[in-house]
Amino acid sequence: MKSSKAFKFPQLTTDKNVPLLDLSRQYRTIRDKMSAALINVNESGQFVLGPEVQKLETNVALYSRTKNGIGCASGSDALLLALMAVGIQPGDEVIVPSFTFFATASCVPRLGAVPVFADIDPVTFNLDPQNVEQRITSKTKAIIPVHLFGQMADMVAFRKMTKDHPDPLRQQIALIEDSAQAIGAELNNIPTGNWGDFACLSFYPTKNLGGAGDGGMLLTNNDDLANEAVLLRGHGMAPRYYHKKIGINSRLDSYQAAVLNVKLPYIDIWTKMRQQNAVRYYEMFDKVGLTNTIRLPDLQSNRRHVWNQFVIRIPDGLRNALREELTEHKIGTDIYYPLGLHQQECFQYLGYAANDLPETLRASEEVLALPIFPELRIDEQWTVVQGIKKFCDANEGRKVFPVAA
Ligand SMILES: *Cc1c(COP(=O)(O)O)cnc(C)c1O
Repeated sequence: MKSSKAFKFPQLTTDKNVPLLDLSRQYRTIRDKMSAALINVNESGQFVLGPEVQKLETNVALYSRTKNGIGCASGSDALLLALMAVGIQPGDEVIVPSFTFFATASCVPRLGAVPVFADIDPVTFNLDPQNVEQRITSKTKAIIPVHLFGQMADMVAFRKMTKDHPDPLRQQIALIEDSAQAIGAELNNIPTGNWGDFACLSFYPTKNLGGAGDGGMLLTNNDDLANEAVLLRGHGMAPRYYHKKIGINSRLDSYQAAVLNVKLPYIDIWTKMRQQNAVRYYEMFDKVGLTNTIRLPDLQSNRRHVWNQFVIRIPDGLRNALREELTEHKIGTDIYYPLGLHQQECFQYLGYAANDLPETLRASEEVLALPIFPELRIDEQWTVVQGIKKFCDANEGRKVFPVAA
């Protein structure tokens, strides 16, 4: 990644209103194409699946260098369909992170199976392979690593404990990538979509490739699994009104596909802009001398990070205070995620204590997401960094810094 151009670093001008995400800036650059695409759908009279969805499936699969793309109604449904297609049954165990969005785990009990929460690597926030290994039992039927914030999890390690393991029983464990935040992310130059049985994409508007509503896609190199997913997303129906399986209704709308077909050609440009914004944060935090005070996200080697989020850590119980102060300065931030799934009310029946997953617990208390969207301006980033600097200076006396290892 190249360094940003010379920037003057002016004095803090607060109350500038820096949004966490402003979708309208992107919309303005593709407005005419989007209007034309939607009118086309209206004229075609085809509103569910159809040629726009087929085009999107082909092109997203091509972009991901995966054989098959199967559009569906959301990233959440993509995960559910993946588990259905690999044959998850009641009583099966599925290992998932606790530090993730709810949908990574909610698909599991929907099939009567048991979510087994594993802890994260504190450096990357991604599922910790060693912790997963300890939780594998004879009932484990799938593992769902999440490429959180846009950086790939250690899929080499997860393949070693499943697909590339000498034990045939281990080889049968399904490996499903939750790539909702990570379209285009790569590990060892191999994109997400090629590391397991399925990868699940989300086209929710805040994702790197976002529609004008809900949408999702399954990617797979396995033709049998692709056919199964196609069957299951359409009520298990083939041919019309003859039902082979008890599927669900999770088809992708033509409107969503039309919008996404307009946006897909820009994805690498937008990713590059996110990457440049990330580089600039590193430079700016260095400039104000905060790189040992707050913890900046870690760039792992051999990975293409697509920066769906730029998440810093504020240790020692000051995260919420910082966030409040930034909000007062009209600087948008968010917390992904404030409570691990193992602590959620709906998962209490599984019997986890908060400290069973100490890194998840700590992350949920320390993380703060800063604006990183492609169209974010340099002066806005500087406002964010200055706002954090001001807070850190004011709190130096509280002897809470520096960062714990
Ligand atoms: C957004 C997201 C999902 C769910 O996608 P939807 O399209 O909103 O259903 C699943 N997992 C992760 C990690 C996500 O960020």
